[in-house]
Amino acid sequence: MSRYTGPVCRLCRAEGNKLFLKGDRCYTDKCAMNRRNSKPGQAGTSRRHSKQSEYGLRLREKQKLRRYYGMNEAQFRRFYAKALKMEGQTGHNFLQVLECRLDNVICRLGLGISRAQARQLVCHGHFAVNGRKVDIPSFIVKAGDVISVAEGSRDVALIKDNAEVAGARAIPPWIEYGADRLEARIISVPSRDQIDTPVNEQLVVEFYAR
Ligand code: SF4
Repeated sequence: MSRYTGPVCRLCRAEGNKLFLKGDRCYTDKCAMNRRNSKPGQAGTSRRHSKQSEYGLRLREKQKLRRYYGMNEAQFRRFYAKALKMEGQTGHNFLQVLECRLDNVICRLGLGISRAQARQLVCHGHFAVNGRKVDIPSFIVKAGDVISVAEGSRDVALIKDNAEVAGARAIPPWIEYGADRLEARIISVPSRDQIDTPVNEQLVVEFYAR
């Protein structure tokens, strides 16, 4: 299944949640959810949407989470399968592996203004993990890993600009960030309360368990 390439604000309005798909604009009054918090299209006002089946509810939560991390269904399912094999709560494990993707970490650091841009920057080989260039956005970081801007990419204008603006963003407590060195260390994998993704992960587990 291919990745959605249409207007991304529409996805937020469809899910009724800010999914932060558009970088800095998402944090301003220009966010479409601040201006027009209704479902897109005429169907948004119909009663059809106000009565949702249990299945519909779980499906929407799954779609919301998938869109938040900007993944296609096949990739998303692979990550879910990974979470299923881990010990502990599947929902929490799922969020944890999604959150530990390298493209997500780059976005959380503000070095990519959105997950989509972070993914592109990773693909172009602009980042390194423990000193080795990694160009795989789905690479999973672990506690102790050091993420840095790759040798030769420190002068990339986009990364420099993003880093300047990123000063205003809060870095998650599970990441230690040295903004002056453009280098971060993963302190630990995130606990549930350290992940602010707006989702009820249990509904996603129930969707896949049906
Ligand atoms: Fe979603 Fe960002 Fe668009 Fe707001 S600006 S609707 S958070 S993508």
